[in-house]
Amino acid sequence: MIYLDNASTTRTDPRVFDVMIPYLCDTYGNPNSPHAAGKKAKAAVEKAREQAAALINADPEQIVFAHSATYANRMVFDQYAYGYPVVSAVEHSSVLEAAKAQEGEYYSILPDKTGAVPPKRMKEGLYSFFKGGNEVDRMASFMLVNNETGAVNDVEKLAEEAAAYGMWFHTDATAAAGAMRIDVKTLPGVDFMTFSAHKMHGPKGAAVLYCRNPKCALAFTNEGGTPNVPAIVGFGEACRIQKEILDQRGGWTDADYNGFAGSFLAPLESKTGFRLNQPCLAQGHFDRILSVYFAGVDAEMLVQLCSDRGLMISAGAACKAHEQKPSHVLTALGMTDDEARSTVRISFSRLNTAEECAEGAEILAGCVNDLERMRNRG
Ligand code: PMP
Repeated sequence: MIYLDNASTTRTDPRVFDVMIPYLCDTYGNPNSPHAAGKKAKAAVEKAREQAAALINADPEQIVFAHSATYANRMVFDQYAYGYPVVSAVEHSSVLEAAKAQEGEYYSILPDKTGAVPPKRMKEGLYSFFKGGNEVDRMASFMLVNNETGAVNDVEKLAEEAAAYGMWFHTDATAAAGAMRIDVKTLPGVDFMTFSAHKMHGPKGAAVLYCRNPKCALAFTNEGGTPNVPAIVGFGEACRIQKEILDQRGGWTDADYNGFAGSFLAPLESKTGFRLNQPCLAQGHFDRILSVYFAGVDAEMLVQLCSDRGLMISAGAACKAHEQKPSHVLTALGMTDDEARSTVRISFSRLNTAEECAEGAEILAGCVNDLERMRNRG
């Protein structure tokens, strides 16, 4: 199997798996228990909290664990969003649903054609919604990296615009954390940040909600429940490993330094008529994620055919794959429904190899050719 759907989920790093095992069968105490077994489990959770904090240069008391980024996003909105929240039109569905759950509606700001929201557009949007009034306790939520296009938002500047209105600012960093440097100390306007273990070679079932104010974090932590200790321990290790890679390499990691995107695109360019949806792969673009349009090709069929031939890619965000609707992210970029339905996403990770990428590109090109041939036949 060639797995190039890493924006949906990633393979657990074997080192992560190894640190998790003892917490299933040996150190299985409940961290809320006062006895020695409980204390051992609690210590492991606290170590993971330190590792998760270190990844984004936060303090451990700013970190809350949740079971998924979807849930962590919901926690922020349920607790802190009053009135209609303001979000970008290309947020992950979990954010849009959390925003809508509050008062049934939200204000939305469109990105430009690169997929990012220019801070100037945010400023104009906020002015048109609020006419310069004070909007204390209202929530603004703008993702750091888009999970379908790889577009990177200037979250620091967007947060400044929200701060001018006294709003809370949340950023969904699920597609970014572990793969790009994040330093919350340089993002003083970011009140909340969320990210998920399974997107960065950690296990499924653990996510982080960062709260700038430790008192907000404490309020969430005090809600209780038994934490998923093995997953949290694995998440901590995944954060440690990704931080180590980032510290060694600086800046981007993963496909960026391996040049996967370039080697993947080369055979496609020569074989099939296709268009890259990202207008600029260079500046600010996260080349772990490619969004590729094949005119007249049904993306769902293409994904299935590729899967039959051993290549895993996606036709959009996995969490929406069951819905037949075109991607709200792609249509927000100005694509027609048909164009969005003819778009596939290819996403790499550091556990892919250059050979896999080259072979994957060949399989994809072959599937596109075969679908075109079938269509032409009629
Ligand atoms: N936000 C983004 C940007 C995502 O890509 C995802 C996962 N597709 C989520 C949130 C939800 O993460 P989780 O699977 O942990 O609920």
